[in-house]
Amino acid sequence: MSFIPYSRQEIADEDIEAVVAALRSEYVTQGPRIVSFEEKFATRHQVAHAVTVSNATAGLHIACLALGVGPGKLVWTSPNSFLASANCARYCGADVDFVDIDPQTRNMSTAALRQKLEIARSRKRLPHTVVPVDFAGLPCDLREMRALADEYGFRILEDASHATGASYLGRPVGSAYADISVFSFHAVKIVTTAEGGMATAQDPALARQLRLLRSHGMVRDAKELRCEPEGAWVYEQHVLGFNYRMTDLQAALGESQLRRIGQMQQQRIGAADRYDALLAGLPLILPARRPDRVSAWHLYAVEIDDSRTVATRAHVFAGLRRAGIGVNVHYIPVHTQPYYAALGFRAGDFPAAERYYARALSLPLFPGISPAQQERVAAELAALLPT
Ligand SMILES: *Cc1c(COP(=O)(O)O)cnc(C)c1O
Repeated sequence: MSFIPYSRQEIADEDIEAVVAALRSEYVTQGPRIVSFEEKFATRHQVAHAVTVSNATAGLHIACLALGVGPGKLVWTSPNSFLASANCARYCGADVDFVDIDPQTRNMSTAALRQKLEIARSRKRLPHTVVPVDFAGLPCDLREMRALADEYGFRILEDASHATGASYLGRPVGSAYADISVFSFHAVKIVTTAEGGMATAQDPALARQLRLLRSHGMVRDAKELRCEPEGAWVYEQHVLGFNYRMTDLQAALGESQLRRIGQMQQQRIGAADRYDALLAGLPLILPARRPDRVSAWHLYAVEIDDSRTVATRAHVFAGLRRAGIGVNVHYIPVHTQPYYAALGFRAGDFPAAERYYARALSLPLFPGISPAQQERVAAELAALLPT
């Protein structure tokens, strides 16, 4: 039987044509397709500024810098995330700490955040920036986090890598509440540019800083030069930046993919609904739903309910892989990684994230998954999960 991957990119003929057209054009690096993709993404997400980057990790790095994260500053994020959500702060020389998750949404717990902030205030060591992560595509409690940010004076850098096209309180993710939101276009994510990312912001000064940092900290525009230029060749470096640019080839792919995001999201929602129905009787904890937000359904992550079955996650994982089903696990809690353990974090520090991880399994989910494939996943799960 054919292998069912846990995720796969959807490349249509029109995507290929768009990339070929870019290849035949005058620009292959940053050209008109970058501008056009940024505009279309900003419109779709109802945000003033969208800045393409070479990948979301690069986006998180320069977002931290644009917000003022640096040595001596403290950044808090979710332990239930990919490494990059924490590493971005370390690139800037800042200290990292974590806030435990809500076991239902698997996102950073607002209650835990509030409690940790009260303690931090009494110890006079408040975070400079908090990086909530929209895990699996389900937006975080961003309104409550904004209220806390205003009360305690921290910035919000939303890691929306999973959440392209998701919405919260009737508005797209990336438009309100967070100071900067960063999206990933890695091949397994919602829309893809092979590798790539986008940082969105309402504040024009932050957007300008992001553009500066993604390209060597360099300006060419005559209006921005500090010295009278001797000629049109003159450029100035104002800050220490990087080469974190996306190419026009990737932007062509991204813009073409973005035209189908509504359709692809409906397919993901349909597949998630079908899993809910197919798996209802099994000893599994299914993903939480919240009426005030629409998930992008990057992942369909379940937990093996150990109060209803003796089967272990390792057993179920191995059994599914043997049956040709590409399951995965998201995420090994970041603080338990050897690098973070060496900074002083210990198993037991964030018990909700650790308990979630111990039982977690991400099932195959992508726009083109068929009902028959989902039925096969459900049947294999039923066989592997004695109650
Ligand atoms: C994928 C991912 C990233 C990194 O994205 P890249 O585009 O691969 O750099 C960061 N954070 C989260 C939560 C992710 O899932």
